[in-house]
Amino acid sequence: MTALAPQDLDRAACAARDAADPLAALREQFDLPPGVNYLDGNSLGVLPRATAARVHDVVTREWGQGLIRSWNSAGWIELPRRVGDKIGRLVGAAPGELVVADSTSVNLFKVLSAAARIAQADDAARRVIVSERSNFPTDLYIAESVAAQHGMTLELLDIDAIPARLAPGAGADVAVLMLTQVNYRSGRMADMAAVTALAHAAGALMLWDLAHSAGAVPVDLNGADADFAVGCGYKYLNGGPGAPAFCWAHPRHAERFWQPLSGWMGHAAPFVFEPGYRPAPGIGRYLCGTPQVIGMSALDCGVDTVLAAEPLGGMAALRAKSVALSELFIALVRRHLAGSGLTIHTPLDAARRGSQVSLGVPADGSVDGYAVMQALIARGVIGDYRAGDGSAAEPHLLRFGFTPLYTRFQDVFDAVEALAEVLARGEWREERFARKSAVT
Ligand SMILES: *Cc1c(COP(=O)(O)O)cnc(C)c1O
Repeated sequence: MTALAPQDLDRAACAARDAADPLAALREQFDLPPGVNYLDGNSLGVLPRATAARVHDVVTREWGQGLIRSWNSAGWIELPRRVGDKIGRLVGAAPGELVVADSTSVNLFKVLSAAARIAQADDAARRVIVSERSNFPTDLYIAESVAAQHGMTLELLDIDAIPARLAPGAGADVAVLMLTQVNYRSGRMADMAAVTALAHAAGALMLWDLAHSAGAVPVDLNGADADFAVGCGYKYLNGGPGAPAFCWAHPRHAERFWQPLSGWMGHAAPFVFEPGYRPAPGIGRYLCGTPQVIGMSALDCGVDTVLAAEPLGGMAALRAKSVALSELFIALVRRHLAGSGLTIHTPLDAARRGSQVSLGVPADGSVDGYAVMQALIARGVIGDYRAGDGSAAEPHLLRFGFTPLYTRFQDVFDAVEALAEVLARGEWREERFARKSAVT
């Protein structure tokens, strides 16, 4: 990492960086509650100012007044493709290649099923889906089911063991490599082009989950020659709770297989109402049922907040700020939390991390990470907690996400200062911070 001088680490220096930040005005797009320092945009993005009015208009005018006519007059039927094309600009997909639909889990089922079927059709000896052991569990659960349905096995490896598994001679049985580009626990980011090339050299297909990438880091699916991708609408894309997700297939695959959820919106002519399924051309066949119009309209507003950075340098400029924010966080943690026992569980090399930094709780159990996060939230600093197995290799984690659209350098300073105080004063030991809610 680049060294930050001590004089760069005081609050005034952070405020000066905010004052000089060419992206600072993008924060005005959001309705942030006063007194909240929000560092959890990697789990749920904040509310864009435009969203409430848009949803109100969709409900009262388009639905209330337009009724069924709005499928045409308000363009509802086009939403999956129109919002999909906007997201495509952020992830290197050409217009018409990416659609918005369903949830990330459901989209993963669709594209992984397609990938498994294509791999098997090309070479029946390929019977293994490979993924990372610490991938987000829903991805692994879906892969378990897809593997079972295709007579395949799911093999889970540590990320560093994957190159050897795909080495010449070792990867001939691998059908699909499925990875999340930025790991939800460690924040470690894979080199999409290099890993895709590795999978292809082994004859395997490459599927990327962009849940922690889209809107957070520059992505070029076509440039990397990836095969399939899915991603999430409610994290860095600010689409709101339960926002629809997206899926992409490289055009070379889009027409080879109709994905298993063959609903009418993926039919070539849904309003002809014929009894047999004929898949729509291209990515259209990855749609299934009626689009979630209200949720997609909210997602549209969220995606617009990211596209608003285009005149200011786009994803490259957002990435530069994200790296600067996480570098500052790491430097401040080292300075203020050196004796705390917390470890930095995210790669120190900025090129190998996404837009979050995770701190590991000491394996000796001296600090209750869950309670620390609750005490921090009580102070208005919102990150989140992810349980590990408590070992040094997979510690319980305090996660902090940096969203360059609205996170300021002074927010990073305040968060580390608050964390240091929570630990130094033992605030987290208060009984109320130990009570667990359903969602952590
Ligand atoms: C957030 C996330 C999901 C979310 O899936 P849903 O179907 O929306 O619940 C899936 N995969 C990864 C890697 C994620 O980070």
